[in-house]
Amino acid sequence: MRCPSCGSDSCHVVEETQTHQKGFGVCSGLCGYVILGPVGLLCGLCGMGDGHTSRKAYWVCGHCGRKFRI
Ligand SMILES: [Zn+2]
Repeated sequence: MRCPSCGSDSCHVVEETQTHQKGFGVCSGLCGYVILGPVGLLCGLCGMGDGHTSRKAYWVCGHCGRKFRI
Protein backbone atom coordinates (compact mmCIF):
# COMPACT_ATOMS: atom_id res chain seq x y z
CA MET A 1 0.00 0.00 0.00
CA ARG A 2 1.47 3.30 -1.06
CA CYS A 3 0.47 6.72 0.10
CA PRO A 4 -1.37 8.51 -2.72
CA SER A 5 -0.06 11.81 -1.39
CA CYS A 6 3.68 11.30 -1.03
CA GLY A 7 4.21 7.79 -2.41
CA SER A 8 5.68 6.38 0.78
CA ASP A 9 4.96 2.72 1.47
CA SER A 10 5.17 3.05 5.25
CA CYS A 11 1.44 3.01 5.69
CA HIS A 12 -0.44 1.24 8.43
CA VAL A 13 -4.07 0.49 9.13
CA VAL A 14 -5.98 2.17 11.94
CA GLU A 15 -9.52 1.46 12.95
CA GLU A 16 -11.83 4.14 14.27
CA THR A 17 -14.90 3.29 16.26
CA GLN A 18 -17.70 5.80 16.39
CA THR A 19 -20.63 5.39 18.73
CA HIS A 20 -23.82 7.23 18.00
CA GLN A 21 -25.58 6.61 21.25
CA LYS A 22 -27.20 9.97 21.81
CA GLY A 23 -30.11 10.60 19.52
CA PHE A 24 -30.55 6.97 18.62
CA GLY A 25 -32.85 6.22 21.55
CA VAL A 26 -34.76 9.47 21.19
CA CYS A 27 -35.23 8.99 17.48
CA SER A 28 -36.39 5.41 17.68
CA GLY A 29 -38.51 6.31 20.69
CA LEU A 30 -40.28 9.04 18.77
CA CYS A 31 -40.69 6.82 15.73
CA GLY A 32 -42.07 4.08 17.94
CA TYR A 33 -44.42 6.57 19.58
CA VAL A 34 -45.77 7.75 16.25
CA ILE A 35 -46.30 4.20 14.98
CA LEU A 36 -47.27 2.30 18.12
CA GLY A 37 -48.17 4.94 20.71
CA PRO A 38 -46.85 4.91 24.31
CA VAL A 39 -45.85 1.25 24.08
CA GLY A 40 -43.70 2.01 21.08
CA LEU A 41 -42.10 4.90 22.95
CA LEU A 42 -41.08 2.56 25.75
CA CYS A 43 -39.72 0.00 23.31
CA GLY A 44 -37.76 2.68 21.48
CA LEU A 45 -36.24 4.03 24.69
CA CYS A 46 -35.30 0.51 25.73
CA GLY A 47 -33.00 0.43 22.71
CA MET A 48 -31.01 3.40 24.02
CA GLY A 49 -28.42 1.23 25.73
CA ASP A 50 -27.50 -0.51 22.54
CA GLY A 51 -26.34 2.57 20.73
CA HIS A 52 -25.07 2.39 17.21
CA THR A 53 -21.45 1.65 16.60
CA SER A 54 -19.78 2.07 13.27
CA ARG A 55 -16.21 1.04 12.62
CA LYS A 56 -14.11 2.51 9.92
CA ALA A 57 -10.69 1.39 8.84
CA TYR A 58 -8.19 3.83 7.42
CA TRP A 59 -4.70 3.74 6.05
CA VAL A 60 -2.44 6.23 7.74
CA CYS A 61 0.78 7.26 6.05
CA GLY A 62 3.71 7.09 8.43
CA HIS A 63 5.59 9.60 6.33
CA CYS A 64 3.20 12.51 5.84
CA GLY A 65 0.42 11.46 8.21
CA ARG A 66 -2.24 11.53 5.54
CA LYS A 67 -5.30 9.42 6.29
CA PHE A 68 -7.28 7.76 3.56
CA ARG A 69 -9.97 5.16 3.24
CA ILE A 70 -9.20 1.63 2.21
ZN1 LIG B 1 2.29 10.03 2.71
